[in-house]
Amino acid sequence: MSSAGLPESFDPTVAAREAFAWSGDVPVSDFTRLADLLVSQSGMVRVSLHAGFGAERQPTMTITLAAQLEQSCQRCLQPVTVVIHHEHTVAWVADAAALERFDALEDDLDADAVEYLPMPDSSRVMTLVLVEDELMLSLPIVPMHDECALPVTVADSGDEHPFAALAQLKTLKH
Ligand SMILES: [Zn+2]
Repeated sequence: MSSAGLPESFDPTVAAREAFAWSGDVPVSDFTRLADLLVSQSGMVRVSLHAGFGAERQPTMTITLAAQLEQSCQRCLQPVTVVIHHEHTVAWVADAAALERFDALEDDLDADAVEYLPMPDSSRVMTLVLVEDELMLSLPIVPMHDECALPVTVADSGDEHPFAALAQLKTLKH
């Protein structure tokens, strides 16, 4: 199993203190909420996790994702391969008041590099849930081919034109 060693859950503060880091491949099929958004659950997601501390000593986790996922093109409804290269840092803050303060700070800085989350009561974060949240955020809002392979229009060769034949019929009637 390539996702071996990935802890089921972690305490953000302990992970930050230990400078926890993990890299590996997680099967796409492990992400059950993602299934509805995909046309195929085959393949792997390359996941890298790296714990640390933010500017105000809040525990952080940087999540890096690389994957090729199959979604349904919203223009032609055929499968479209979506290439994911996503890196995002999540920071846990103590409570709702701190969350408000950090979010306001973030608006001031106009930086969306860090996403602030309230620390769970249990201080445990489910690893795959966190990764799946990021994965879902990384997907395009409207998946689409750059150019759809729409049905090929039959080239008009000039003769045997259906309207020409129709015109001929009309002429014969008279
Ligand atoms: Zn398409």
